[in-house]
Amino acid sequence: MSETSRKRVLLAKPRGYCAGVDRAVQTVEESLKLYGAPIYVRKQIVHNKHVVSSLEAKGAIFVEENEEVPEGATVIFSAHGVAPTVHESAKARNLRAIDATCPLVTKVHHEARRFAAEDYDILLIGHEGHEEVIGTAGEAPAHVQLVDGPDGVDKVTVRDPSKVVWLSQTTLSVDETMETVARLKTKLPLLVSPPSDDICYATSNRQHVVKEIAPDCDVMIVVGSTNSSNSVRLVEVALQYGAKAGHLVDFAHEIRDEWLDGVTTVGLTSGASVPDDLVMDVLKHLAARGFGEVEEILTAEERLTFSLPQELKRDMKKAAALQNS
Ligand code: SF4
Repeated sequence: MSETSRKRVLLAKPRGYCAGVDRAVQTVEESLKLYGAPIYVRKQIVHNKHVVSSLEAKGAIFVEENEEVPEGATVIFSAHGVAPTVHESAKARNLRAIDATCPLVTKVHHEARRFAAEDYDILLIGHEGHEEVIGTAGEAPAHVQLVDGPDGVDKVTVRDPSKVVWLSQTTLSVDETMETVARLKTKLPLLVSPPSDDICYATSNRQHVVKEIAPDCDVMIVVGSTNSSNSVRLVEVALQYGAKAGHLVDFAHEIRDEWLDGVTTVGLTSGASVPDDLVMDVLKHLAARGFGEVEEILTAEERLTFSLPQELKRDMKKAAALQNS
């Protein structure tokens, strides 16, 4: 077999779990250990089918709203963040609320509050209906306007063009967001940028490595769920940067043999809410079809970790002290 027709997999790194997802999943697991099942979780803790069903098997009950949680029970808020009204309704129902919002989403909430307090119009770039956007907008509903991609710019109207800031969802396409911002700046030259990037390090890093390998890939397989914004973006980015085809799968068995017909190089990555064992399953699946050669392409080292939510750490400490007394 010639060098060019050798079947291989280019495995992207960084891929998979980010610090915010790792913390959110640990928050549910530690809460189950500490308080016992059932633990209620408002919305999917992270947007991944496998993670949600594994936690359900351990005793987590996923609900849509606080009203479904029995009074006095424990509820965990997901990594995507919640509006202040959700904290208020938990309090009104006397729920023990543990907030697993990713600290990088919380940072965007702080920015929204701060600019609203200074009476700015806030243009929030994001996907309509996404939980994170609902949570961030809920910090200052009277000041926030959603801009859903470059085509949303035409609809924007502001009170004072010299007092407008843009913020964004953390899991968007970096390139598309820059295009939206460029169009906004044409319309509003005095538009203020956020103090630091709102698109998080994990989203940018996963897109960056995909951009590197996409031109060499006949097909890019992204492991992730269809409701995972950052996973869906990885398929789009792969196609934009030269992969001939791209597919999103939750599990290895969803890969169709015809996707591999005539293929020499498969790109493989996963969204920020995907445990790596699912990627390893895909590697085994591909190896069984002749793609046993794997080259990992590393473009960034990630060492960030977040500590568990304060309220959970405090209860863990109390429980440990009781045990030792
Ligand atoms: S994708 Fe980014 S913002 Fe979302 S949980 Fe992970 S680190 Fe936090």
